Amino acid sequence: MRHPFTYNLLNDSLHFNRPASSDSSWKVGLRPPPKDVRPQTEDVTATKGLEFEEMFLRRELLMGIFEAGFEKPSPIQEESIPIALAKRDILARAKNGTGKTAAFVIPSLQQIDVSKNKIQALLLVPTRELALQTSQVCKILGKHMGIQVMVTTGGTTLKDDILRLSETVHVLVGTPGRILDLAGKGVADLSECPVFVMDEADKLLSPEFAPVMEQLLAFLPADRQVMLFSATFPMIVKDFKVSLWTGPFVPDLTTEYAIGKTHEISLRDQSHG
Ligand code: ADP
Repeated sequence: MRHPFTYNLLNDSLHFNRPASSDSSWKVGLRPPPKDVRPQTEDVTATKGLEFEEMFLRRELLMGIFEAGFEKPSPIQEESIPIALAKRDILARAKNGTGKTAAFVIPSLQQIDVSKNKIQALLLVPTRELALQTSQVCKILGKHMGIQVMVTTGGTTLKDDILRLSETVHVLVGTPGRILDLAGKGVADLSECPVFVMDEADKLLSPEFAPVMEQLLAFLPADRQVMLFSATFPMIVKDFKVSLWTGPFVPDLTTEYAIGKTHEISLRDQSHG
């Protein structure tokens, strides 16, 4: 039997998490969607057999996962979620359609303390459409947790965002330019946000966005967790990794420590871009 969860459990006490694996009373009254019977490829079926119930997730989060119709973690979820829950930085690559979104949304939601009126996860994506999709996944999976999700992209007025941010927001999803604007104006407070995720990291680290990402990171606490997900990892992502962990944002980290702390995951290896 494997024991991948030797790290500190996050906000909850063990008794809160543990019954989920042995007791399925949390499923009572929940209705999963109809089973998806379409043929699946190995990208989503070749798992090692880890169950969501074995991941020490909060019961309310398991309820959202169950209601979303996710019976078992996909390979990228199985690999990344335990590592993400250990608060390690992640560089994960897997093809599109293999469940990357939930692979970072689940550990991000798990780390949120809903009683705290602070942004606690920043999920960055390159497009408005992806921002809307990602926030939808957060809402579905976080439905029973009472998580407040805000999505912001360049398309709406800044005033609306300012008003929304005067209320509780636990998860902020959006495109980098608008979020930098809000952080720079002191409207979005990221000073206690421990989770920084980049989806489609290859695009977010293109020359157009990379400087914005670096500026954004400076608004987060020094010990924040960085998770990069992408279908391809061109060299630009590796370069960012180096500049991120040895550069001005975390001057107190040594290269050795930074590299040791980072976990690279690569599934269904494809183009290196
Ligand atoms: P990616 O981000 O890798 O492109 P998505 O996160 O969009 O992939 O997931 C692709 C599809 O698979 C979505 O419809 C999502 O709801 C579904 N999905 C994700 N994880 C699981 C799972 N563990 N079990 C069943 N379906 C899943």
